[in-house]
Amino acid sequence: MIAISKPYIGEAEKQAVIEVMESGMLVQGPRTAKLEEKFAAICGTQYAIATSSGTTALHVALLANGIKPGDEVITTPFTFMASVNSILYVGGRPVFVDIEEDTFNINPQLIEAAITPKTKAILPVHLYGYPCNMDMIMNIANKYGLLVIEDACQAVGARYKGKAMGSFGTGCFSLYATKNIMAGEGGMITTNLEDVAQRCRMIRNHGMQRRYYHEMLGYNFRTSDLHSAIGLVQADRLEDFTTKRKANAAFLNEHITSVKTPQVKEDYEHVWHQYTIRVDGGRSRDAAVKNLTDAGIGTGIFYPIPAYRQAHLVEAGYGNLSLPVTELIVNEVISLPVHPQLSQTDLETIVMEVNKL
Ligand SMILES: *Cc1c(COP(=O)(O)O)cnc(C)c1O
Repeated sequence: MIAISKPYIGEAEKQAVIEVMESGMLVQGPRTAKLEEKFAAICGTQYAIATSSGTTALHVALLANGIKPGDEVITTPFTFMASVNSILYVGGRPVFVDIEEDTFNINPQLIEAAITPKTKAILPVHLYGYPCNMDMIMNIANKYGLLVIEDACQAVGARYKGKAMGSFGTGCFSLYATKNIMAGEGGMITTNLEDVAQRCRMIRNHGMQRRYYHEMLGYNFRTSDLHSAIGLVQADRLEDFTTKRKANAAFLNEHITSVKTPQVKEDYEHVWHQYTIRVDGGRSRDAAVKNLTDAGIGTGIFYPIPAYRQAHLVEAGYGNLSLPVTELIVNEVISLPVHPQLSQTDLETIVMEVNKL
């Protein structure tokens, strides 16, 4: 079976974990500080703050930006649920805007119409590693005085007009095992604002700067140096991994002829967290998934249901919402393996089988 994702675990990752074990200092410490420095360098931001996951990075970023109960946050319904749940955690109200058919990202043309006096922030998601149109999003944010919190969990190293994702607003990243670089579990927040960075550090650690003096309500959203040690090794591999993902995607784009393949526009640097095709024209996606599975090709459906149709959002009153492009796309997408560990034979097998669909 050609896996849809496969974490790379080399000797250096193993050695890094053993070194932390032997040091006896397992909790968040020097390796985490180093990983934060590396992330700030990757994103070209002043600050980076590590957390326990991408989900907690989003949660902390929203809190640190002052999103409060009743505040509206504009986002996409076509994303991993954590993007939306983080808004709910702080008592905010997600306001869903439909996506673009060609990029799968939030449609910036539709954002302005969704703004109300309660709108506080835009939370764009760079889905599959493809940047959102940040010129349009930042222009709208500036015009209406809105905050921007980027869900860049799938987009580490991606760039829009040469500027790294996570450096436009407050950036949130995940180091979950299947992400482009991983630490097993882990997250990261990037920002250029010192006060936001400071609040993130405090919220992550029970509102403390000085031990046992709690200046605000905080949480335990720390990571551990065991995880950060893995993340540090992986951060050094980022360029190599991204180069391989790009080459794999280029090969698939060149040779797949049976279905719509993902296209990259000028000014956008895609880091191919997922390579996602569309089974359209009335063809059955279920049948396509079955054929590929039978042929030994792992696939993923990211994501099969719009966020507003998930049980807790239906309960919260979103049940009647229906955004046409999202409704279409959730039924057509299939992600194919594109990870750095694919062999040339794997790529050729994928092309051959997809071209039979
Ligand atoms: C992975 C992911 C998250 C959450 O990250 P975790 O580390 O799994 O908590 C959030 N948003 C998106 C778009 C993701 O892909």
